[in-house]
Amino acid sequence: MSNGITRLAPSPTGALHVGNARTFVINHLLARQNGWRVLLRIEDLDGPRIKGDSSAMIDELSWLGLEWEGPVVRQSERGELYRQALNRLWSERWAYPCICSRRDIEIAASAPNLGQASAAYPGTCRGRFADESQARQGGRPVAWRVIAPLAPMLFDDRFAGPQSVDLASAGGDFVVFKNDSQAAYQLAVVVDDSAAGVNRIVRGDDLLESCARQIHLRRLLGFDEPIEYWHLPLVIGPDGRRLAKRHGDSRLCYYRRLGCTPQRILGLIGFMCGAFGSRREADMNDLMEAFDIERMSRSPVVFGPDDDAFLAGRKA
Ligand code: GLU
Repeated sequence: MSNGITRLAPSPTGALHVGNARTFVINHLLARQNGWRVLLRIEDLDGPRIKGDSSAMIDELSWLGLEWEGPVVRQSERGELYRQALNRLWSERWAYPCICSRRDIEIAASAPNLGQASAAYPGTCRGRFADESQARQGGRPVAWRVIAPLAPMLFDDRFAGPQSVDLASAGGDFVVFKNDSQAAYQLAVVVDDSAAGVNRIVRGDDLLESCARQIHLRRLLGFDEPIEYWHLPLVIGPDGRRLAKRHGDSRLCYYRRLGCTPQRILGLIGFMCGAFGSRREADMNDLMEAFDIERMSRSPVVFGPDDDAFLAGRKA
């Protein structure tokens, strides 16, 4: 048994679809092939975008054959831990209160003397307030930002290769606590991964830039257990855009209602990962034997009409 610990971290912002199911299945396969422990964390912090409860999502993950160790962690129940991390960042002045609205930031970014380059937060509130209550005096809601590093963040991704992310230009100082007093995704993930001893992270490559923010935060918070990352290409529609509602219904619950089995979904995922040469049905064991991350394409995978027809049990 290795000492690897990974997590499945779904956000219940919508039902599971073919794209995020593929990432979770690959995460699960890598864990089983390498003897990592698997945890489940529900990322339910994102206020209005969270839809309903997470039990349907958990049910779908297990219907698909994914397994994890309990207990299930829910970010909405961990506000106190995130607050403590924020206090630590503030006590070392890595974080600062910010009262800028989106509009203020847009105006500052389009000021003629800043040129086009600066869509990044211009640092208006950095060093501006002695403490949170002073920031609150004007009655505006207060968020908290962390100072972005000046030098590019360099890290190696096990799948996507060497990365260099210049956070100062990619958004600049970033929000770690939102102005509704909820921790932002970046901070919550770092605190939770560290608390659970997570050291293997597998997720979509839309999070590569976030990963740089998370590595920066980990350093500031003194979390020094190294993490290995696999950022995987996303599933896209035939038009080259990220798979979404505009491409029709690709939710697992939709196919399930049409009589689709988990074996058909797993088989298609295997085909999309290069594990099988054609669309077929497979169970998790078949997939585990055939799956080799080294053979997986580095490019995004298209979910097209033939895939839809296969899942729906129609002739293409
Ligand atoms: N909750 C995120 C998602 O569903 C994953 C975040 C992460 O793995 O760090 O895409």
